[in-house]
Amino acid sequence: MSDTTTVPFVDLRASHAEIDAEIRAGFDRVLAATAFVKGPDVAAFEDEYAAFCGVAHCVGLGNGTDAIELALRAAGVGPGTEVVVPGNTFVATVEAVVRAGGRPVLVDVDKDTLLMDPERAAAAIGPRTRAIVPVHLYGRLAPVADLLDLGPTVVEDAAQSQGAIRDGRRTIGAIAATSFYPGKNLGAYGDAGAVVTDSAELARAVRLLADHGSERKYVHETLGFNSRMDTLQAVVLRAKLRRLQRWNRQRADAAARYTEMLAGLPGLVLPEAGSDGEHVWHLYVVRVPDRERVTAVLGELGVAYGIHYPVPVHLTPAFRSLGHAAGDFPVTEEAAGQILSLPMFPQITLSQQEQVVQAVQKALA
Ligand SMILES: *Cc1c(COP(=O)(O)O)cnc(C)c1O
Repeated sequence: MSDTTTVPFVDLRASHAEIDAEIRAGFDRVLAATAFVKGPDVAAFEDEYAAFCGVAHCVGLGNGTDAIELALRAAGVGPGTEVVVPGNTFVATVEAVVRAGGRPVLVDVDKDTLLMDPERAAAAIGPRTRAIVPVHLYGRLAPVADLLDLGPTVVEDAAQSQGAIRDGRRTIGAIAATSFYPGKNLGAYGDAGAVVTDSAELARAVRLLADHGSERKYVHETLGFNSRMDTLQAVVLRAKLRRLQRWNRQRADAAARYTEMLAGLPGLVLPEAGSDGEHVWHLYVVRVPDRERVTAVLGELGVAYGIHYPVPVHLTPAFRSLGHAAGDFPVTEEAAGQILSLPMFPQITLSQQEQVVQAVQKALA
């Protein structure tokens, strides 16, 4: 990996270098106070992130999967309820539904955006449906405005979309869950997550669930869990939140450069930014007909890549009990065989992008 021609998939060191001094000063402050869980930095981050998302409340949590699960529980998901989820997502979305006690009802996605198709989602709603979980995959918000008034609570999986906008809004549903896993657009230095919502009731329910069902020490109102945010992570997230919009713009610039440089290659399908808001390019996902050939050439030339995700959730052994078979979600399945994520991070240089583009050109020539 020390070869200078190597292009990493993400470069977390480049982001850290911009905030190193601020992080060290913040860690020193926390060490001096020996306040490691919650504390003033977590409360300050919650206020700052709620304001950024344009909502009244943010609850800091242990990770993104917990955030989805607790949001679903707060929305009333439990045994006997169903939750509509797009087939094209990371397994955590579906895990969270099962952990909350609900039954995941998967639906196929839009063939162009690979995001939740609101018509298919609406058609999957039945008498037991308690929630719908649009997943803002790759950094683009799914078009779910029409699902808001259908009855089930819209719980967004916003793990890949920090800062993204659609129709002027950063938060669309009743509650949005996000992950601050290190590689996300807003990433901690360990695990962390959060929910954001305008509803004081939903926020309070999540806060109780995340801290042993308790708001005041030793008063346990409900059966809860432990999913509190770690104070050191809040220090990192506060420093990074101040740079998030600039970093997202740098990602968008890099995406535009890829799109310009890769235009017109035979068989290559490029992702679209959309014209209804701001895509924050967590991932730059192209589609290629012969992916094995392309990944072989990228590998040879030292260009890292990802596949998000190679096996659709409904064909994953862990979810065999859902009873699906190959052919159930043709759009998701076809995409899983063709998608390829190219290196993407705010500090990616023009020359790194040129290396990526040359490798793709060589593979498709
Ligand atoms: C990262 C991610 C999650 C899970 O977040 P964790 O913090 O790893 O638990 C959930 N959904 C999507 C779409 C993700 O990308």
